[in-house]
Amino acid sequence: MEDCVFCKLINGKITVDPVYQDDDVFVIKDIAPKAPVHLLIMPKVHISNLDGVSDENSSLLSKIMFTAKKVANQMGISGKYKVTTNIGEMAGQTVFHMHFHLLGGWEKKDDVVSELKQ
Ligand code: AMP
Ligand code: ZN
Repeated sequence: MEDCVFCKLINGKITVDPVYQDDDVFVIKDIAPKAPVHLLIMPKVHISNLDGVSDENSSLLSKIMFTAKKVANQMGISGKYKVTTNIGEMAGQTVFHMHFHLLGGWEKKDDVVSELKQ
């Protein structure tokens, strides 16, 4: 997608140092972190959000979740992180290339961001 900022990062049109990537998924640090660890896990193919997932590409979802688990382990936050995704403007989605927020790294329980927003 030409106007999609995440496609530009994935395709190298905008330079970024990914935390992890393979044939299917791309992981970057969020530019405006809402937690000590805030990563974005996305498919390399452009899908607008969870509503755009079809029978043909639904295996990406398990790939993304498993990547979240592996990257959380690499970041040293296993057992203390959350994974969320926003679907649509009304739910707070601002970038319309599906991505899952991996949030964690808090020192105290009180610091954990609310369940309702990142
Ligand atoms: P959402 O509001 O769920 O669509 O999340 C979009 C996220 O992308 C926000 O947390 C932004 O801070 C983040 N973001 C936007 N542009 C970039 C960028 N160029 N690099 C890294 N993160 C970005
Ligand atoms: Zn895109």
